[in-house]
Amino acid sequence: MRKVNNGMRIPTRDIGFKKRSFSGETSSAILGLGDRGEDRHVRDLGPIVYRLSAYEAAGQIVVEGDVRMSARFRCSRCDRFFSLTVTDPEFCMLLEAPENDEFVDLTADLRESILLRFPAYPVCREACPGLCPQCGANRAETPCGCRQPADDRWSALDGLGAGRRGDDPGQV
Ligand SMILES: [Zn+2]
Ligand SMILES: [Zn+2]
Repeated sequence: MRKVNNGMRIPTRDIGFKKRSFSGETSSAILGLGDRGEDRHVRDLGPIVYRLSAYEAAGQIVVEGDVRMSARFRCSRCDRFFSLTVTDPEFCMLLEAPENDEFVDLTADLRESILLRFPAYPVCREACPGLCPQCGANRAETPCGCRQPADDRWSALDGLGAGRRGDDPGQV
C-alpha cells in the first residue's frame, strides 16, 4: 500500500516491465471544487481511493485499475442529500515513459476520471417522487394529499388503449 495524500504520483523508478500495484487514496481536494471543497450539489466528499497497477511496455507506461470516491449528492428531484459512490472501474492511461522525470503524475487524470462520473441528475432512488408541484412538500417524506392534476395526454392514451383492447369474445 502506498499512500499519497495530495495527488497521485508514481516514482518512475518503481515502474518496470512487471506489473506492480499502486493502491492508496488521495484527498478529494484535487477535484478543485473550490475552497469550500463542496458545493450546493455535493458534500461530504471522501478521499479518492485508487487501486491501480502500472507497467512499462514498448516505451510506454500503462496505468490501469479502478478509482472511486464516496460523497453525498443532492437529489435532483427531492433536494435531499444521499450517499453515492462514484466509480471508474476501467481507469486506464497510456503515457510516454518520461526520460528524466522522477514521477509519473496522474493527479489530473484521477481528477478527470472522478468528475466525469458525477451524475448529471442525481436521484436518491429511481422511484423518488420528488417535491409536490402544488404545495412544495417533499413527497419522499410526507405524502401531502394534494390531488395531482390529471395529465390529459395520458388519459387520452388510456382511453385509446382500452378501446383497442376491448376484449370482446364475440369478435374473435
Ligand atoms: Zn430524491
Ligand atoms: Zn402537495
